[in-house]
Amino acid sequence: MIYEAVIGLEVHVQLKTATKAFCGCATEFGLPANTQTCPVCLGLPGTLPVLNKKFLEHGLRVALALNCTAANYLKFDRKNYFYPDLPKDYQISQYDKPLAVNGRLEIDTETGKKEIRILRVHMEEDAGKLIHSSSASLVDYNRCGMPLLEIVSEPDLNSAAETYEYLTQLKSILEYLEVSDCDMEKGSLRCDANISLRPKGETKLGVKTELKNMNSFKGVRDALNYEISRQEKQLRAGTAIVQETRLWNEEQQKTFTMRTKEEAHDYRYFPEPDLVPFTISDETIDAAIKALPELPQAKKQRLARDYTLSEYDAGVICADKHIALYFEEAAKHYSPAKNICNWLMGDIMNYINTHRIETKALKETLAVKNLIAMLELIDNNIISGKIAKEILPEIIKTGKDPEKIVQEKNLSQISDTSQLETFIDEVLREQAQVVNDVRSGKEKAMMFLVGQVMKKTRGKANPQMVNTIIKNKLETNS
Ligand SMILES: [Zn+2]
Repeated sequence: MIYEAVIGLEVHVQLKTATKAFCGCATEFGLPANTQTCPVCLGLPGTLPVLNKKFLEHGLRVALALNCTAANYLKFDRKNYFYPDLPKDYQISQYDKPLAVNGRLEIDTETGKKEIRILRVHMEEDAGKLIHSSSASLVDYNRCGMPLLEIVSEPDLNSAAETYEYLTQLKSILEYLEVSDCDMEKGSLRCDANISLRPKGETKLGVKTELKNMNSFKGVRDALNYEISRQEKQLRAGTAIVQETRLWNEEQQKTFTMRTKEEAHDYRYFPEPDLVPFTISDETIDAAIKALPELPQAKKQRLARDYTLSEYDAGVICADKHIALYFEEAAKHYSPAKNICNWLMGDIMNYINTHRIETKALKETLAVKNLIAMLELIDNNIISGKIAKEILPEIIKTGKDPEKIVQEKNLSQISDTSQLETFIDEVLREQAQVVNDVRSGKEKAMMFLVGQVMKKTRGKANPQMVNTIIKNKLETNS
């Protein structure tokens, strides 16, 4: 029997606002514990929350970018539970009237495009953080009241790879919208996954487990792969799956039982009496839709079309907004754009990854004009692609004009025929056997000869010219 995984995700995104969801406390990350609190977010008696307008605006943008239907009526509810990280003993959230419903997100899978439905998007406040030591548990309330958006997908994902792709797409959209840092390590993006297995072809859902404690997209993928094989083994052995919450242990690469859920929690939701419900007009929603920036999928299609890139290339470029902007800026002044794309996806991406440079700093790292100048040096046969790869780090480090670097280091390509012939004659003398091989039709032997000339000139020879000259010489002398 073949089993199919059924996965649904709950993603919590901390929205980038200057102040918390319902009070004036700063949202900065990493400040000393309990320095970003006030009577409102600590829930002291007599205080009143006030909705942060930016929180609503950002939330609405995300919902609309995910093709959701936004609600005209906005209401908050209290979700009641007792836990030390929650000083009010309730969380302001949204229950039966979420910000938006019925969205969709398109992902690329091995078998083509797939639409993942979004069930709902709602606004809520974050809880504090517990820090456990061997002797005590400490509470930091700085995170209390931070603006969160919860994005719940339908169980439309069928593998860990699809889930990874969904998260990547979602993060890309959030970054394009500039509404969140999306930093999983700092907790500004968190993800819980529901997963069950069922025989392929079956429509009824199996018993699911909920996975928590994944701190990276890779962690989510690993945890799901582990859980899929764990559940499959159990089902094949005839053991029932227990509905429970399981924690991912990154070090051991395993999930462990956290708590078994006998029944759903009773959070005793009721309308938040301190925040009056209000309406959002269609005009406001329409204006927000119009104000959305070009999103990754649309940008990808446009770049592929306008610059004749493959869909794959355009996808890699557009996955990161800053790379995409950089590409477009460069492509305005240089063609073929495919060359820019190749360098961005290859050596430049490598450089910024190994030097841990953020993509938003790419423009300052390698000025667009310097990249173009370098590409033109290659196009005009002043330097070879190989030399360009060598000097790229120096262009980046010094910010100098590539042409200057080439002059200073005497790296100009040798395109002077008589100069090249001197090197070529030497090689032909030294490699008599290989020359015979070439004459008897061995293609690879020709490559070897060109390689030897490149070596002698320390990569400065123009390889096409070397190729032609050798061919001519061997034909005339044979
Ligand atoms: Zn506060």
